[in-house]
Amino acid sequence: MSPIVPNTAPKQNRTPLLLALSAIGVTICVCAAGWMHYDAAVKLDQSRDWLEHSETVISNIQIEQQRLDRIEPAVRLFHLTQDDNNLQAAQTNSVALHATALHLQQLLADNPQQASNTRNLVQYSERLMHTLAHLSPQDDPPAQTALACRETLSLMQTLERELLTQRTDDSKVNASRNILLSIAFTALSMLVVIVLFGFLIRDAFRRRRDEGQIFEANEKLAGSVRALERQARESELITSARDELQLCVNSVQAWNVSTRYLEQLLPGTSGAMCLINHSRQSLEISSVWNRPTNLLDGFALDACCGLRSGMMRWRKSGYSEVHCSHFSGAAPENYLCLPLSAHGETLGIVMVECASTGLAAMVDANLPTLQQLVTLAAIAIAGLNLRMKLEHQSIRDGLTGLFNRHFMEIALDREMRRAERQQKPLAVLMLDVDHFKQFNDTYGHEAGDTVLREVAETLRLTVRTEDIVCRYGGEEFVVILPEVNGQEAVERADRIRQMVGEVRLRFRAQSLREITISAGVAVYPDNADTLEQLLRLADRALYAAKHQGRNRVVLTPTQRVTDVEASAALPGSLSSALI
Ligand code: GH3
Ligand code: MG
Ligand code: MG
Repeated sequence: MSPIVPNTAPKQNRTPLLLALSAIGVTICVCAAGWMHYDAAVKLDQSRDWLEHSETVISNIQIEQQRLDRIEPAVRLFHLTQDDNNLQAAQTNSVALHATALHLQQLLADNPQQASNTRNLVQYSERLMHTLAHLSPQDDPPAQTALACRETLSLMQTLERELLTQRTDDSKVNASRNILLSIAFTALSMLVVIVLFGFLIRDAFRRRRDEGQIFEANEKLAGSVRALERQARESELITSARDELQLCVNSVQAWNVSTRYLEQLLPGTSGAMCLINHSRQSLEISSVWNRPTNLLDGFALDACCGLRSGMMRWRKSGYSEVHCSHFSGAAPENYLCLPLSAHGETLGIVMVECASTGLAAMVDANLPTLQQLVTLAAIAIAGLNLRMKLEHQSIRDGLTGLFNRHFMEIALDREMRRAERQQKPLAVLMLDVDHFKQFNDTYGHEAGDTVLREVAETLRLTVRTEDIVCRYGGEEFVVILPEVNGQEAVERADRIRQMVGEVRLRFRAQSLREITISAGVAVYPDNADTLEQLLRLADRALYAAKHQGRNRVVLTPTQRVTDVEASAALPGSLSSALI
């Protein structure tokens, strides 16, 4: 039987580890990409704040410059016109200038260079504010202070613009770098995801391949189980067929048992067991199952191709086209003939007919068991035939087929015991063919044999089933009649005598003379207690019948005689019992 599971060394499965590592890699990459996005957003926000801050600073510086631009004309107008409104406008702007300078000081406190500038600006603006607060038309305009303020503001604006440019560039660089990193991490994540999916797809393909192998292995396993179950069934069938065949006591039982098991083994088929008859000239159907088609009951030995070849033979389309000739009409399409032989002797054939090629295939699959069963049947039938033959030879007379003297003595002893138990009479007839020697002398020994066979057959046909007919020796016969008294026995013996007398025989175109018989009758328990006495008295009675002229029946008188008397009794003393 082929191995059920593929014989491969177990491989270390690294897929779970790779999947776990891939999942960790994907998580790290996605987190990194997320962190990059977050960091870029925060930095962008900060850059925007710084840009806004710089723009605010620049805007305040520009406002300061505009205020300075207003203060100077207003002071010149005041000196020209002496109009306090102009002075007042200059003072208001100087106050606002100082206030904005203070605000700028706060805004730029983190930048040391700008902080120094704003300190200067605050001093200049404060000085300008005080100067303008006490300015009289005679006083010189505070041109130096205003100029210092303007220069400081210009310096601050230049610095702030540089910072703005630098921050804008940094922001752009940061944004680009973050975008690149995000793209890189996203690409890496996608790569890891693709690898992960690759593993999963490879795993799915492997699993499908493994499932295919498992399916195949399961199919093989199921096939093996089915084969084992079939073998077990067949083995069980063979065992019970063997047991039953051993129980058979005659061939008929063995035929029937065999065909029953053949039918069980090959359901759906039909067939027959045909055995060679006694003449060994033809085969006759002994038993059938499911009525085979057109099979002849009685056909010549050479009608079967299987029997001719001495081998099992299939007849089926595409295999062998030659038909056997043991069919009365059209032969079936598919049939199998198996010679039935045992102990070197051919007994007949088993013919299996299949109505379809499917059934023929089934028979083919069961061929080993079929051959086993046929062999068992052949051995059993041959054994029973042999037993019957031996039994026949040991208890039967070869010429007439009647029981022999040995069997008669056993049977008589048994019947006398039964008669004693049942308190019933038992009669014994001793019969002898009159002047039998003349048949031999006149027509030959074979004619004498024919006469003996004919007399035996007449005896067989005349007696009851329970009566026992034996050839006692030569031309003498004994008939045991259970439950028959003297009178009835005489009547039966006389009937036999008459029947034999009516027999007309021809031998080799010659009519033989009339056959007559004489008979002596003795009855148990009327005449004797033992088997020997009974037979001796019957013989005496027969002798008396001969003595008195033959072709008659003599009954032993009913008075009991002892052994001595019986052996000494003369035929003449029985003449009174003549019918
Ligand atoms: P009876 O009327 O007094 O009985 O005369 P019988 O001729 O019948 O008796 P007998 O004893 O003189 O002769 C019996 C003959 O039967 C002698 C023997 O050769 C012959 N015989 C015995 N057995 C067989 C046998 O099996 N076949 C044949 N053909 N003859 C047999
Ligand atoms: Mg005789
Ligand atoms: Mg005799």
